[in-house]
Amino acid sequence: RGIMAKKATTTPMMAQYNEIKAQYPDAFLFYRLGDFYELFNEDAVKGSQILELTLTQRNKNSENPIPMAGVPHHAAQNYIDILVDQGYKVAVVEQMENPADAEGMVKREVVQLVTPGTRMKDSADAAKENNYLVGLTMADDHQCFGLAYADLSTGELKVTRVQTVNAVLNELSRLETKEIVTTGDLPDDLNATLTNLGILKSKQTEFLNNAEVSYLNQNLSDDLEIKTTNLLLSYLFTTQKRSLDHLQIAQPYEVAQFLKLDRNSRANLEITTNLRTQKRSGTLLWLLDNTKTAMGGRMLKQWLEQPLLDRSTLEQRYDKIAILIDEYFTRVALQEKLQQVYDLERLAGRIAYGTANGRDLLQLRNSLRAMPEIIDLLADLDQTIFGDFIKQLDPVSDLEALITEAIDDDAPISVTDGGLIKSGFNQQLDSYRKVTTNGKQWLADLEATEREATGINSLKIGYNKVFGYYIEVTKANIDKLDPERYTRKQTLVNAERFITPELKEHEQEILEAQTESSDLEYRLFVEVRDTIKTNIARIQQLANAISTLDVLLSLATVAEDYHFVRPELTDEETIDIKDGRHPVVEKVLGHQSYVANDVTMSPDDLILLITGPNMSGKSTYMRQLALTVVMAQIGSFVPASSAKLPIFDQIFTRIGAADDLISGNSTFMVEMAEANTALQNATSHSLILFDELGRGTATYDGMALAQAIIEYVHAHTHAKTLFSTHYHELTELAESLPHLRNIHVGATEENGELVFSHKILDGPADQSYGINVAKLAGLPDSLISRATEILHGLEAQGASVNETENEPEHLAEPSAVYQAQSVAAVAEPVDTTDDQLDLFQIETSQQSQLV
Ligand code: ADP
Repeated sequence: RGIMAKKATTTPMMAQYNEIKAQYPDAFLFYRLGDFYELFNEDAVKGSQILELTLTQRNKNSENPIPMAGVPHHAAQNYIDILVDQGYKVAVVEQMENPADAEGMVKREVVQLVTPGTRMKDSADAAKENNYLVGLTMADDHQCFGLAYADLSTGELKVTRVQTVNAVLNELSRLETKEIVTTGDLPDDLNATLTNLGILKSKQTEFLNNAEVSYLNQNLSDDLEIKTTNLLLSYLFTTQKRSLDHLQIAQPYEVAQFLKLDRNSRANLEITTNLRTQKRSGTLLWLLDNTKTAMGGRMLKQWLEQPLLDRSTLEQRYDKIAILIDEYFTRVALQEKLQQVYDLERLAGRIAYGTANGRDLLQLRNSLRAMPEIIDLLADLDQTIFGDFIKQLDPVSDLEALITEAIDDDAPISVTDGGLIKSGFNQQLDSYRKVTTNGKQWLADLEATEREATGINSLKIGYNKVFGYYIEVTKANIDKLDPERYTRKQTLVNAERFITPELKEHEQEILEAQTESSDLEYRLFVEVRDTIKTNIARIQQLANAISTLDVLLSLATVAEDYHFVRPELTDEETIDIKDGRHPVVEKVLGHQSYVANDVTMSPDDLILLITGPNMSGKSTYMRQLALTVVMAQIGSFVPASSAKLPIFDQIFTRIGAADDLISGNSTFMVEMAEANTALQNATSHSLILFDELGRGTATYDGMALAQAIIEYVHAHTHAKTLFSTHYHELTELAESLPHLRNIHVGATEENGELVFSHKILDGPADQSYGINVAKLAGLPDSLISRATEILHGLEAQGASVNETENEPEHLAEPSAVYQAQSVAAVAEPVDTTDDQLDLFQIETSQQSQLV
């Protein structure tokens, strides 16, 4: 009976709602009802909380009132943004016919599903960020993953295959993934991790095999990559429900083409995100970003996220930057021109998507207008370096001409209310406009003659939607009208409104011409937009060239401002940096206050063991090397007076602890896990930075592990390694490990005060200065004296122990196993994960020279 009662109260509208909602159970349904989007049931309850809407009820007095909350349709975008920002999906349901024309229920459909990975945000803070949606599939044998990603706003589409869950997570983190599309077959552990990371998983089981998909897949040969791209595209087409002409032909890539930086290293080095604030400020990106366009900003970020391994590409970038540094005036002029260029990638996206309005086309036109001058400026530069670049730069001037000819300079935001198309563009439109203009003149004339004929000076002609044109006369003057000629239409408090036969006749003409005119304008506008749409690939290519130019100009400017130098890439295993600096710390402290330091590692040096008091600059020194490498490998100049570097395949870091809090793992566990990743995956072409490894556990434990790890790197890994430590005992390792060298950061004690020189010097530090640092930190004097006392006691004890045993060894002998092992036996990387580089074959001859 209860069910029957419920059924009976379900109105046709709610039946329609329920039917649509059943297809989108995981999305908020924005159901269009007149001027509002309404949320019902659980959506209304939850939505009203998140969006701070008033929760009301539909059918209040019935047995089953329905919770309801609404937002005005013109403000809907804000509300949708808030929900999607919080990781929800929103299905937008529109009325598919004019309610006035509908027989029975108005037809409604979902016109778009907005999701975290498919939303196109126009806000300024989103301009320099991509928003990627990732598709993830598994090979039939479950041995590897297909990973595709797209940015719906720019049309970028890329795909790769990766071998391990870790590699998947690294890519997801690089792409700052908020949503992935799967068929639902991912392994449980990966699923759980994705949930922990707050990544939304969207299931798509239907694969579309339409012409668009085949077109976009045309460059792919790998079955898994094709399947993955197909999955991603199927989801995009299903959710967006329109053609997506701006999507670019899928480009396959390999993780091994790029310098590998795992998730933690990326975060620790603060390349694009500040560890503390999670913002850009204080990062390498922040320092290097002097780009003038949003698309250039996005490209710089992409370069930093995928530094290169290819020497010739890097050299070409250095060549261009060198010239742009020298040609100051051209550089400044180019940057000025770039200020005039709008976000071509996103404009192309809106044009394809069909959401571009008149103003967007004007933005496109203004951008294109900058091109001839940009090309001229580039033509003045050394053509052996810039010739090829100019050849690729199609200024797309035909579209500039088309928009200039067609679109009114004062085009409004709306595309349906006229005022979009220039006069002279279309004859028919011009003649409609003549009728409207003439008509308006006729109305003005009529007003004048009517005033004269009636003697009523306040008489006026007006218009409203219901009654059309009318003559309005105040009540006081009504007597002066001839009742034969004036038909009363509407009575207001103080006035009456009338029509006359001749007014009615002209009204018809004027209104018809007006509607015809704006309809025609809309059609003409769409025609222009569609013509542009067929040229989208050209616009995207231009966008790519302009972004590249923008980034190179930015790098040149920064190189000049901060005195960077062109790196010399070498095939030897040599690092030779003179006067190296940490560019971000230097910017913050000022060039004068920063103490520059050399980094010198011959092919024979594998490990630099860095000692020195806390706060002296050990970790800064290590980071500065890593940042220098990243900069060199995106094609940037580097902060030094000269720099000779090999091309590194991977960088591993164990620095800092800020990230540990989030993961919930104990610091020491994270430390060991990161050390393990480095030891398992590093090759002789990698860079490892270990900052105070082992400090997370008891002294002897930590020291033992630190020593064992150093010995392991020395014997097996052969990566260039910087290892800072406060275990002074470890410095003795230099005696037994031929490829380990001690360096330290200078500090002196003056009148009991510690003075840091921040200068890197050869050899081990002689003191630990821990108590001095504690004093510096302001601990009470009495406590400091007590600590000094305890220290002296301990030192005396240690001395006596050594004396009695006559054995001045603090350290265990380096493991005999490592020493005995032959080079050939250890040359193989320990873990042969397939995403690891094959590019650098380990050469036994070189290795034997090392050990
Ligand atoms: P450590 O790792 O030895 O504890 P840090 O590298 O964290 O020390 O450096 C501590 C502080 O010293 C930094 O925040 C920075 O302000 C300053 N510093 C480090 N290196 C330099 C340098 N080369 N020149 C000037 N100041 C430096």
